[in-house]
Amino acid sequence: MLIVLLGPPGAGKGTQGERLAARLGVPKIATGDVLRAAVREGTPLGLEAKAAMDRGDLVPDEVIMGIMKETLNSPDAAKGAILDGVVRTIPQAEGLTEMIQSLGRELDAVLLFDVETEELVRRLSGRTTCDSCQRPFFGREPGQPCGCTEHNGVGTLTRRRDDEPEAVRKRLEVYKAQTAPVIDWYRRNGARIVAINAVGTLDEVEARALAGLGPSR
Ligand code: AMP
Repeated sequence: MLIVLLGPPGAGKGTQGERLAARLGVPKIATGDVLRAAVREGTPLGLEAKAAMDRGDLVPDEVIMGIMKETLNSPDAAKGAILDGVVRTIPQAEGLTEMIQSLGRELDAVLLFDVETEELVRRLSGRTTCDSCQRPFFGREPGQPCGCTEHNGVGTLTRRRDDEPEAVRKRLEVYKAQTAPVIDWYRRNGARIVAINAVGTLDEVEARALAGLGPSR
């Protein structure tokens, strides 16, 4: 089972992606997570991606295609995957479609997260992330201990560089110019698009996603 999560930054793709992955028994693959880990570890991939990420720009399509190829081919993803933030440009959608076909697999759905821009700005500017478990928190200040029980609460909350106001503005512009056209591309190419209202409690949004994906899920 392969599901692409599409939607603007701050729409909740990461959080809902985790939930859907746990419920459907497949991994969540997020290029943003792979890139942030590479930046933390200072690998060549991280060094290449860091500047673009900090500005709120996209990293080059070839870099993303390399990550997709590696992760989709991994044994973990044999049963399927939830692809979070993986497709951000039309060339990436084309590349992923070819990759999926060459693996003899099919895309089940594109799950589209719908949230108004004002709400996105409010969410992103109030977001901090645990530097240990990478979980996002809203309305909690940087510097506080994360305190989350699953990871022994060892982390400290930090503000992602790309959650600073300038980068948030840039990311929303980039979404409009480069990622939103991907929705139409999938529509033209016959993908099943499931649009959900992504404003509500985590449980409400998850329930809408599962209902939209259909009773067999
Ligand atoms: P995210 O965590 O999905 O918001 O991604 C954080 C940043 O990583 C983005 O703002 C981009 O700089 C980069 N990134 C993640 N996924 C992609 C992608 N599919 N294409 C290009 N850049 C990406």
